[in-house]
Formats: sequence, C-alpha cells, structure tokens
Amino acid sequence: MSATESEASSQLCIYCRTNPAGSNEHIFGTWLITDLTAVLGRAPGHGWISSEENRREILGGERRANKYSFDFITDTVCHRCNNGWMNDVDIKARRTVHSLIRGDRTLLTGAARARVAAWAAKTAVTARFAHVEPDYVSEQWTSELFTSHKAPQDWLVWLAHYRGNEGLKYLAEDVRVTAPNSPTDVLVPHGVLMTTVLGQLCVQVLGFENTFALTESDITTALQIWPTSPRRCKWPLDGYIDDSNLVVYSHRLLGPS
Ligand SMILES: [Zn+2]
Repeated sequence: MSATESEASSQLCIYCRTNPAGSNEHIFGTWLITDLTAVLGRAPGHGWISSEENRREILGGERRANKYSFDFITDTVCHRCNNGWMNDVDIKARRTVHSLIRGDRTLLTGAARARVAAWAAKTAVTARFAHVEPDYVSEQWTSELFTSHKAPQDWLVWLAHYRGNEGLKYLAEDVRVTAPNSPTDVLVPHGVLMTTVLGQLCVQVLGFENTFALTESDITTALQIWPTSPRRCKWPLDGYIDDSNLVVYSHRLLGPS
C-alpha cells in the first residue's frame, strides 16, 4: 500500500476502511509530549525518525493553544477513529506510560502491560504512513488493531530501561524473515520493527503478517510485555541501555544484513 499525502486525502481510513481519511493524527500525541516535557524538565525540541537511509529530523514546536507538538503526522485516518478508539488506547495507556518514561518504581500488572503494548503497536503501525517513504502496512494489522484495540496477537513487544541523553528517539524499519542460511529465500516479506525512546522508556515492537516464532537472543535488559502474562513485573528493570548501545539494541533481533 502506498499513501502519499495527496493520495491519502481521497482514500478511506486505514483502520475502519469506511470513513474518508484526512484527520491529522499526531504519531506522538499532545498528551505524550506534554508528559515527556514534564519529565525531562524541557520540551524535547527534536527527535529522529529513521532507518539510517531514510532519516529525517522531526521538530517540535508550540502550535495551537500553546500546545507543544511534533511534525510527525499522518492524514490516513478518519476523525472518528482518531478521536474514538485510537484516543481511548492512548488514554488507557497514559498513566502507565507516564510512570515508565519517568522511571518511577512501578508494579506492572498484566493489564497495564497489555495497554502499553496496544498503544505501542498502534503507534508503530500508524507511524509507517508518516515515514519519509511510507512503509508497507498489512490490512491484517490495521483490521486487528481496529477490531480488538489490542496489539496483534502474534506480535511481540518489549520494554527496556533507557538512561541516556535522547529525550525522544524513534527508530523503525520494514523487516523480513528469510530462511536460515539463505538470505535470498524470503519467508515473510514484510514486518514492523520499531524502537522508540521516550524519557527512561525504550519500547520495542516486532510484528509480521504470519505467525512467527522468534528465538530471542539472550537479552536480560528487556522485558517482554506482549503477548502478556498475568504475573506482575517491577519497573524500572535492573539492567538498562544507554547511548552507547541503543542502536545495537534496536537491531538486536535482526540477523546479519
Ligand atoms: Zn476510521
């Protein structure tokens, strides 16, 4: 699917596929930037969206009603989705996300982790339309998010504790699965990989179109929050990542390129 800005205005919403698109969805909502500004003690003046070859700076600024926002926007959703279920997903995650970005000592229940995973997955999918070159988005992903308001069942979401200088950093790319030892034999052509830093929170999302069994490398700094389990977990985690290993961490699930 491709969606340039001019095309998007005549398209249907990527989620409900019923109403016309055209609502300006901020990938990082005003609530998030407001909370992040409070935590950092300064507005996160800029952030980065990238894969390395598809990189641009996103700038923050005071816009309407003195609200601070980022120029990281897509108009591929409709008003009803934007102000309805997508807003609900944000509202339900906000309290926990705020604790995570502040590094507050928090007990993360299974329900709280599921709400954060839903917000992260919705952000990862919607953001792909706002990339320098919009990335592939499967109808399976958008329809599952739209109907369940949860992260897609087969997706994986992790949290890591970040302690570095980036107030906001967004790293994302389209990934694929190839056969072991045969990089030209593509088993799954598209997948979402997003790693986002917000304050002390680093959230990572990996999702494909088909069920995908991951043999995770031994990373003890990350906490898998989706698919969720009922046990409680403590935040912040014991280990952390910083600016010396953030990029390595963001690529930890990828094989040699
Ligand atoms: Zn819609």
